[in-house]
Amino acid sequence: MQYLIDLHTHTIASDHAYSTIMELVSQAKVKGISLFAVTDHGPDVSDGPHPWHFNNLRVVPHLAEGVGILRGIEANITADGGLDLEEGRLKNLDIVLAGFHPNYLPTTVEEHTRLMCKVIRSGLVDVISHPGAAQYPVNYEEVLLCAKECNVAIEINSSSSVNTRMGSHENCVKIGKLAAKIGNTISLGSDSHIAYFIGCFDESLKVIAESGVKEEQIINTSPLKVLDFLESRGHKPIFELRDYFSK
Ligand SMILES: [Zn+2]
Ligand SMILES: [Zn+2]
Repeated sequence: MQYLIDLHTHTIASDHAYSTIMELVSQAKVKGISLFAVTDHGPDVSDGPHPWHFNNLRVVPHLAEGVGILRGIEANITADGGLDLEEGRLKNLDIVLAGFHPNYLPTTVEEHTRLMCKVIRSGLVDVISHPGAAQYPVNYEEVLLCAKECNVAIEINSSSSVNTRMGSHENCVKIGKLAAKIGNTISLGSDSHIAYFIGCFDESLKVIAESGVKEEQIINTSPLKVLDFLESRGHKPIFELRDYFSK
């Protein structure tokens, strides 16, 4: 199956990414992507945007040139198991991803697992980004059981082992196999840092094929499935997108 929804992209609001939202929309149109999430890094990494960036995402239309846009963040897990944007701001966004980044330097598997599970249980996070990151190993079974219990999606990231986080592929396959067994909800993200990479899921597809993740577990199969998932997480319905994609 070709997945035409991308739930993890970056823009020039993160200094190490190179495209604007308009450029993402333009490439989405070229590739037939129906919906994507803008998920720039939270403020705690040195090249992340100011917190105001996330408040003001409200000016970004949910629908531009026929492409659906979700206003999101890839928040950073902090050393105390919190997130680097306050709760009120997170709750105004359409989608919240969270993962480990260099604001927190790796410690132990036990500690990474504890922090990730604390974030999952916070109720503020919809998707755990790149849980297979080789630099931040976790107890996969513990994290996946916790995510299943809390209705939090697990990402299969298509930049891991390709553009960044080298050496993560085997971990991602292990996670995929466990997720297939546990029945976790799966989110696919290109983690595009340039518009040309939006919707590129080559690495995710390899992980899916090797691990046996089932298509029904993956929310990127239809815009309404994504919207249903986000509403099940407590987000306000986005009627404009719901109407547009129901036609
Ligand atoms: Zn990340
Ligand atoms: Zn990212």
